[in-house]
Amino acid sequence: MSEVKKIAVLTSGGDSQGMNAALRAVVRSGLYHGLEVYGIQRGYQGLLNNEINKMDLRSVGDIIQRGGTVLQSARCPEFMKLEGQQRGAEILNQHGIDGLVVIGGDGSYQGANKLSKLGIKTMGLPGTIDNDISFTDYTIGFDTAVGVVVDAVNKLRDTMSSHARSSIVEVMGRHCGDIALHAGLASGAETILVPEVPYDMGEIADRMKENFEKGKRHSIVIVAEGVGRGEDVAHALKERHASIDARVTVLGHIQRGGAPTPFDRNLASRLGDFAVRSLIQGESDKGCGIINGELVLTDIDKVVNTKKDFDMDMYELALRLSQ
Ligand code: ADP
Repeated sequence: MSEVKKIAVLTSGGDSQGMNAALRAVVRSGLYHGLEVYGIQRGYQGLLNNEINKMDLRSVGDIIQRGGTVLQSARCPEFMKLEGQQRGAEILNQHGIDGLVVIGGDGSYQGANKLSKLGIKTMGLPGTIDNDISFTDYTIGFDTAVGVVVDAVNKLRDTMSSHARSSIVEVMGRHCGDIALHAGLASGAETILVPEVPYDMGEIADRMKENFEKGKRHSIVIVAEGVGRGEDVAHALKERHASIDARVTVLGHIQRGGAPTPFDRNLASRLGDFAVRSLIQGESDKGCGIINGELVLTDIDKVVNTKKDFDMDMYELALRLSQ
């Protein structure tokens, strides 16, 4: 087993709050363990452009509280091809870098998987607001994004209840309804539409009308983008019952912004340190996660080929509490 002496870290794909905290943990844990640590700018694109800089303790100072990623992120079509991956491995070898920590989502994990097959030891850290990476209860950024949605819904409630209106809030989540579910429960939404659960728009409209007739002052509908556009939901509700006066808010990239919550910073710090220690122990081609509070490693192949379970108990609870 060859010993890891020089490692690099990059952030890739869609950014998320807490990527900086993860970067800080990787750099400082690596230095603590006597490794040389390099930061690669702009994901795999920066790797192919040789944008690689040596990091020290100070290069990750004052970033734990910042959203975004100081290394910047990018999408890199060239890296989807074997040639690009081979060139990436070559560049890492030229620098003598034998371990790489990739902070990103599903696609970024696949890139790490390809590099590991070319002799680079890799670790994936789940950096995405969508919580759509399997074998971890939470991804880095998810908690902050949920907080952003809940904060927006609180504000919408103030104005909606003054006019007895419905508010439709479109949130991120193309394949995974976790943001909608967690924000929906936390904000007392009446309806939560997610890609994982089929729904009947007629029934939803009837229930909203009934609830208004029973004296409900406002109703919040959270729609994960994977279900469709908030505007289309508003249209369908009004078609069924003209009395449903629904206003649509699309939160968009605001969900990716803001200072990471303490939960995300601590998750990022624990996972970042865990990735480094795992590389030192000779592990490779693994995704790092936390399940029931325990740090776990899972083969990246398995991570990217397993769909994350949707929490139906939580979904049903949200429905029961939203009468
Ligand atoms: P995310 O990591 O947030 O899911 P993307 O899916 O856009 O974001 O992936 C980020 C980058 O990872 C891509 O631009 C590409 O460079 C690399 N990547 C994605 N899928 C693969 C793949 N199958 N093989 C190699 N590299 C990949």
